[in-house]
Amino acid sequence: MAIREICVLPDPVLTRRTQKVTAFDASLPKLVEDMIETMRDAHGVGLAANQIGVSIMLCVIEIPEEEEVRVLVNPELVSQEGERKLIEGCLSVPGYQGQVLRSNKVKVRYQDLQGHKHRITAEGNLLAQALEHEIGHLNGQAYLQHLVAKDAVWKLDEDPPPEYAEDMDDEPSLDDAEEAVVAEVKD
Ligand SMILES: [Zn+2]
Repeated sequence: MAIREICVLPDPVLTRRTQKVTAFDASLPKLVEDMIETMRDAHGVGLAANQIGVSIMLCVIEIPEEEEVRVLVNPELVSQEGERKLIEGCLSVPGYQGQVLRSNKVKVRYQDLQGHKHRITAEGNLLAQALEHEIGHLNGQAYLQHLVAKDAVWKLDEDPPPEYAEDMDDEPSLDDAEEAVVAEVKD
């Protein structure tokens, strides 16, 4: 296992769509180990492979207080419902956070490291937010494309603009993430 360097914007690897994984060989679990170690070292909730410079459709998500790390190969949003405003940051946009518009409920299909198909549904929680965030990375986007307004981004060591600050107390954060409402079934 090794901690990899995290790419930051405007690195073009972050703005290119990643390639679908077709070979489920031994290189994948090795890469996943590095991604998990890198994510934990950076105190992230998720990490996409292109954030460490590997442009393939693979991401990991670790929700605090959940036992397992989720590994998603070729994840794809199949439905998005509702809207909510959330505060969000990104390891590839260090030192900043912003207010974004995210879906309330998402359904995602993905494969595991053996290539088996699964589906996952997440609603109103940190997992739903993380799924949209990481799949965005794999499609060449950062959260900046989802800001509620162009100026809805600020430095972490500065106070947010007052129009966004008032929402901050209500938002789920890493510390008080709502209990995961997750249904996972085989596809
Ligand atoms: Zn990110």
